[in-house]
Amino acid sequence: MDKIKIGVLGATGVVGQNYVRLLINHPWFEIVDVAASPRSAGKTYIEAVKKKWQMIVPIPEKVKSLLVRDVQDFNSLNPEVSFVFSAMDLPNKDDTRKLEFIYASKGIPVVSNSSANRRIVDVPMLIPEINHKHVDVIPIQQKNRGIENGGFVAVKPNCSLQSYMTPLYALEQAGYKIDKVIITTLQATSGAGYPGVPSLDLVDNIIPYISGEEAKSEEEPLKILGKIGEKGIENYKDIQISTTCTRVPVVDGHTASVNVKFKDKVPTREEILKIWNDFKSLPQELNLPFAPKQPIIYIDNEDRPQPRKDRDNDKGMAVTVGRLRKDNVFDWKFVSLSHNTIRGAAGGGILNAELLKAKEFF
Ligand code: NAP
Repeated sequence: MDKIKIGVLGATGVVGQNYVRLLINHPWFEIVDVAASPRSAGKTYIEAVKKKWQMIVPIPEKVKSLLVRDVQDFNSLNPEVSFVFSAMDLPNKDDTRKLEFIYASKGIPVVSNSSANRRIVDVPMLIPEINHKHVDVIPIQQKNRGIENGGFVAVKPNCSLQSYMTPLYALEQAGYKIDKVIITTLQATSGAGYPGVPSLDLVDNIIPYISGEEAKSEEEPLKILGKIGEKGIENYKDIQISTTCTRVPVVDGHTASVNVKFKDKVPTREEILKIWNDFKSLPQELNLPFAPKQPIIYIDNEDRPQPRKDRDNDKGMAVTVGRLRKDNVFDWKFVSLSHNTIRGAAGGGILNAELLKAKEFF
């Protein structure tokens, strides 16, 4: 099959570079358009990223010589582009929200990593293993906005919650309704983009604050677990979540310490491990190229998961869990980990695009 031609908005940043790296040999998608700020526009991709290429692989040959376009410049957009990944970080979220919808209005679907459109009720916020059914809100979005040429915006949620949402959802889905969760995240430096947190702030240190992150990690799960109503997605209200988000001197891999209280039935340790071990969903059934074979991997060693050893499990797309133990205040507690720039960003975006392609949205 001919590969689908795609573009990356914000292709020069940390997430954009991950898209470029992860899509090198993608069986369905091929990058033909790269865009970023006016600072990079007009340069070749290699020139634009030469001082800030963060990947451990060289810049792919096919992308090196592409001319970087200003994200606002539609005249230079390659007409072959069928959809774009958005990894741009404009100074103002309103501008990002509007710009993503300008692409959609021109018939170009957008799969976004930005938080700008996450709270919008007719925009699906997808973790395909959990809420793949939320793609059904796209026709509502198109109708609400008079988009008749196939364009739409779909987003992926914040990277902080990727590690704990799938293990919690698997338990909910198995009939063990969750009442309360308290979470402390230990988030990697790459989550702040490039150049990110100054080294003198972070080396030999932990920063117990990430602007806006706690609100996102408490609110976004409610939309992910929500149902589609008339106007869009209606948030799930039946769970209380409290988070503390911290930045730690780890390059990649967000860890979370999670304490869970169930509503009535409390699963046994054996039941929890079996639920996690057996958990599979539509991406696995459809055998999507970026779907992890085993979405939740439990490691029994008492000192795991660890970012350096476990973040790359199943090419960075699996969630690794460990340290399941009884909680003296709630019911159970565990530690979970996911790769923030892969599962939590570019890899998660690619899996969303694969799901949307498989569901024939483009
Ligand atoms: P980053 O490294 O700072 O990259 C930002 C990108 O946005 C660059 O391509 C940059 O282009 C472009 N940009 C900045 N100002 C712009 C402007 N005025 N007009 C057009 N483009 C502009 O950030 P990142 O970590 O890749 O994050 C990108 C997005 O993904 C953000 O919305 C972030 O919140 C989200 N996200 C990040 C992660 C993560 O783990 N890093 C995870 C999930 C979601 P230039 O190079 O030309 O400046």
